[in-house]
Amino acid sequence: MSIVAIVGRPNVGKSTLFNRLIQRREAITDAVSGVTRDRHYGKSDWNGKEFSLIDTGGYVLGSDDVFEAEIDHQVELAIDEADVILFMVDAEDGITGMDEDVATLLRKIKKPVVLAVNKVDNPEREANAVEFYNLGLGDYFTLSSTSGSGTGDLLDKIVELLPDTPVREDSDLPRFAVVGRPNAGKSSFINALIGEDRYIVTDIAGTTRDSIDTKYNRFGFEFNLVDTAGIRRKKKVKEDLEFYSVMRSVRAIEHADVCILILDATRGFDGQVQNIFWLAERNRKGIVVLVNKWDLVDKETNTAKEYEAQIRKEMEPFTDVPIVFISVLNKQRIFKAIETAVDVFKNRTKRIKTSELNEVMLPIIEHYPPPSLKGKFVKIKFVTQLPTPQPQFAFFCNLPQYVRDPYKRYLENQLRKNFDFNGVPVSVYMRKK
Ligand code: GDP
Ligand code: GDP
Repeated sequence: MSIVAIVGRPNVGKSTLFNRLIQRREAITDAVSGVTRDRHYGKSDWNGKEFSLIDTGGYVLGSDDVFEAEIDHQVELAIDEADVILFMVDAEDGITGMDEDVATLLRKIKKPVVLAVNKVDNPEREANAVEFYNLGLGDYFTLSSTSGSGTGDLLDKIVELLPDTPVREDSDLPRFAVVGRPNAGKSSFINALIGEDRYIVTDIAGTTRDSIDTKYNRFGFEFNLVDTAGIRRKKKVKEDLEFYSVMRSVRAIEHADVCILILDATRGFDGQVQNIFWLAERNRKGIVVLVNKWDLVDKETNTAKEYEAQIRKEMEPFTDVPIVFISVLNKQRIFKAIETAVDVFKNRTKRIKTSELNEVMLPIIEHYPPPSLKGKFVKIKFVTQLPTPQPQFAFFCNLPQYVRDPYKRYLENQLRKNFDFNGVPVSVYMRKK
């Protein structure tokens, strides 16, 4: 999926626009997953074209005292990772020095840049907006993020600039993305996997200009490794900011079937790792968690068990995820890691026959039916798996709107218990019959 990044200095209205563009969709996904996590990354669509939207400013704390260098970094990263850059300026303030700095960076690049002049709430500001031609970025769009006026034209332009969705090659092969925060051991893991070049089958041009899918044949498994320029880049990411690891992960995650999330055992499942985890979950990708650098941890009898329990607590409510303790340094359990990722892939592509599904699930539902609500009784009659790339189940009943989230979670857990969806987000829908 294509990525649109909103850049600009603090307070111009980036997050206001971001929220407006993702609102409708988020309402739907939140109803399904029941969780809202990352408020700076979401999906949007316009005229049937879907894209991911990133509010780069959202990752900077304390919006007023942001260093200019910080904004430059953000813009550079957005340039690397996004397909379209939406540069927002503020009609109320006019052109500032920071705007000029950002414009200077953006003028040098080949990727499409859309200049959006925000806070154009009245005709006077519309007229004054002409000054933004001085940024040297050509034509601009005026809008008011608070009222929504002007956003339609802006979106028309954005979707026009989005690259065509590439055709997926080797669609049967599992696509694994190696993600995690800087220094977790991702490159080391990839290098250990690749080992010698002879395991690489082909280096096919990736689904985007920046990413490379590498087809491997190792340990008896064939798989594509989804690697982004960001992961491969020689120049090390020095900044240990959440923003960077998230930005670098987005594309890799979206193009994967299974995300191999590597964390550093000495640092744990911290906030940044959690955000990447939720990014994968929200994209309904398979997930394997690898706790790397296990060699550095002093171990007593229950260390691994306790460590694992701690991680699972942080993962709630999506805890049915494999966790493998590895040491890339000692080449420990690398094979197990890949084997587990393949299992997760199989779980994600699993199709359960309708007859079997009903045979198992209907008695369970009969035994513990949805609680009655306002005196109404819900009768679930039939369940089927939808023909989607990842597991989704539709339960047909008389009063779908009366089934609450806890009961849907119960159904999900029963599906997990009976059919094994370890590592895979499962969606449960109630449909009218
Ligand atoms: P960000 O730091 O760039 O993400 O900016 P925010 O979205 O947080 O907005 C900063 C301030 O500008 C908030 O008080 C918004 O309500 C306000 N704002 C955003 N868009 C508009 C707009 O179109 N018109 C006006 N008048 N105010 C706006
Ligand atoms: P990346 O930024 O996630 O790609 O991380 P790197 O692969 O560059 O690894 C960061 C550092 O951790 C390097 O110095 C690696 O040698 C070290 N490292 C990676 N895996 C292990 C491991 O299993 N054990 C130990 N002790 N160090 C490791």
